[in-house]
Amino acid sequence: MDPRYAPLFEPLKIGPVTAPNRFCMMPYANGHSFLMPNGATGVRETRAEGGWGIIGMQLSEIDPTSDLSGLPYERLWDDGDIKAHAHSVDRIHRHGALASIELAHTGIRSRGIANGYPVLGPSILATLKPEFPYMAKAMDKGDIRTLRQNHRAAIRRAKQAGYDIAYVYAAHDASILWHFLSPAYNRRSDEYGGSFENRLRLLREVLEDAQDEAAGEIAIAIRFAVHEASGPKRISFDGEGRDVVEALAELPDLWDVNISGWSRDSGTSRYDPEGFQEEFTSFVKQVTNKPVLGVGRFTSPDTMVSQIKRGVLDVIGSARASIADPFLPLKIREGRGDDIRECIGCNVCVSVENAGVVVRCTQNPTMSEEWRRGWHPETVPLAKTPETVLIVGGGPAGLEAALTLARAGHAVTLAEARSEMGGRVATESRIKNLAAWGRVRDYRLYQLQQLAHVSLFTDSPLDADAVAEFGADHVLLATGSQWVRDGAGRSRLDPINGFAQAALTPDDLAQGTQPQGTVLIYDDDHSYMANALAADLAAKGHAVHLVSPMPSMAGWLGNTLEQPRMLAEMLALGVTMHPNTTATAWANGALQAIRSDTGQALPPIAADTLLAVTLRHPATALSKALTECGIEHRVIGDAEAPGPIQAAVFSGHRHAREVLGTEPEDRLFKRERPMLFD
Ligand code: ADP
Ligand code: SF4
Repeated sequence: MDPRYAPLFEPLKIGPVTAPNRFCMMPYANGHSFLMPNGATGVRETRAEGGWGIIGMQLSEIDPTSDLSGLPYERLWDDGDIKAHAHSVDRIHRHGALASIELAHTGIRSRGIANGYPVLGPSILATLKPEFPYMAKAMDKGDIRTLRQNHRAAIRRAKQAGYDIAYVYAAHDASILWHFLSPAYNRRSDEYGGSFENRLRLLREVLEDAQDEAAGEIAIAIRFAVHEASGPKRISFDGEGRDVVEALAELPDLWDVNISGWSRDSGTSRYDPEGFQEEFTSFVKQVTNKPVLGVGRFTSPDTMVSQIKRGVLDVIGSARASIADPFLPLKIREGRGDDIRECIGCNVCVSVENAGVVVRCTQNPTMSEEWRRGWHPETVPLAKTPETVLIVGGGPAGLEAALTLARAGHAVTLAEARSEMGGRVATESRIKNLAAWGRVRDYRLYQLQQLAHVSLFTDSPLDADAVAEFGADHVLLATGSQWVRDGAGRSRLDPINGFAQAALTPDDLAQGTQPQGTVLIYDDDHSYMANALAADLAAKGHAVHLVSPMPSMAGWLGNTLEQPRMLAEMLALGVTMHPNTTATAWANGALQAIRSDTGQALPPIAADTLLAVTLRHPATALSKALTECGIEHRVIGDAEAPGPIQAAVFSGHRHAREVLGTEPEDRLFKRERPMLFD
């Protein structure tokens, strides 16, 4: 190990337990929930194997009034839930890690709609989302007693399940304890409302109950958001956030601190640098003698060790770095820092919560496949007989397929037409604030360069004859996709008059075409591309109109938690936004448009350059030519079906494993089935 990183591997006493090192895999929604316990255990066990010293069980509901049905969380409602937790804890312990559980009552965020019990709050409040017509019940003294009893019972069950650390949760604007604390939510006039001490009372009581129930056998952690970074600053790191830490300083065994709400806690690389929470959380260690854990999209060992050495944190908490590289701690310990598959901070992992599927990751295609497909993040089965593989295209799909097949022992040749590897991530990473996208290429290219039986060629456009002449045992086409010019998009499927003749596309910009004067970007793609280009061009001095047929701009960024930041960025850069605006034609240097909802004509929007960001079509010419010659091949990545970079990486990985013959031909991987009662 590089001695510089030794502080990351010092054991740490946390109350009655000792963490083997300073790495904590944070509680995060991994998409499995209590309904898919085997897959969820696979996620956790793999991280324990990879050296994370504490493995956090994601948010776990303590009782029926904390029901979050529809969201992929865990439950510890009664003794019947203990078995699944105990199984998970056992798998974590096998690798020497501690297991922690984030016990939570989510107060007004709970989904009483699922079971008919009223949602509970400190006061009568709107629940869940403003547009849902349900109100919370203001908790009476009986409700408060029940909550305390249920939290105690959950601690007891956590002990029975074998956990080492149990949480009292007061973060993310998603905890009844936080709701009682907040003067915005708490309008009570009894001893639980009004003054700071009164609003703090329930949190203090639950924490004392937890310590009492733990009885010195397991550690009690508090997860507390010291600062509201979005919305009005009612709780701030230099106000009541600090007051809470001072008031409860020595009561928990571990302070796990962050900022609220979730969208600011899980900031992306586009808007927040690594370690961005330090300015809000660094005071905590000055106020308490207990160990302090914190987060901040940490990906580099240098930043991590700097936090420990400078006395900012005692434990490095990480969700995304552990998703992207489950073996990050082990790699640092073994002096293999160059092998870390660094998170790019894109929040694709976060986005899938809204889709209700298991977590996907741009950098790590094996995420969520640990149990059901048996994919390991670091190893692939060795090929029975080493064969030759030709891969055409050096984007994310081609690079991932090349790496997977080379690791299996095949002799891999990768031919890329351009003068650099990386395909779309090479070009997209040059757009303002998207530099981290380049890590998708950098990790794979470096790994490939370490392998003797890999040949990498740039400036090598291949046609069917060249592929035939090469005569590889396996041919994989990762030829990517191109943006369309004619205006056909995701909401309106037909071409738009005048676009094919006038519009530039993101590919034109990537190839060096300079837009002139005022630029109108027509976004019928709704991801990051149109707004990232708008920011890029505005920063270079262009006046920019950003036009979207949807009622809100860049809906995908609602899933990645970036939408409010993007809107603020557009305003700051002077980009004029036109939501709910469907283009009908481009004529005479102006966009003709109608309101998307009513069809009413809108005034034309004049511009010097039209940039269409709508759809991508797969590049299939080479595949067609090979088919005509009768040469067997696979089409992978964006060339098979254009999508996010994550989908291209996954496709490259999956196809490679299919070449290895380890995947079920009927595509049926292991499934979890609900139990049928007699
Ligand atoms: P993906 O996301 O599926 O990996 P990309 O668009 O990022 O797709 O990358 C595809 C890469 O394939 C591009 O870098 C492109 O230059 C390259 N490419 C496309 N056709 C050929 C070809 N005939 N020969 C070599 N490289 C090609
Ligand atoms: Fe990081 Fe993106 Fe993977 Fe999430 S999906 S862990 S943000 S690389």
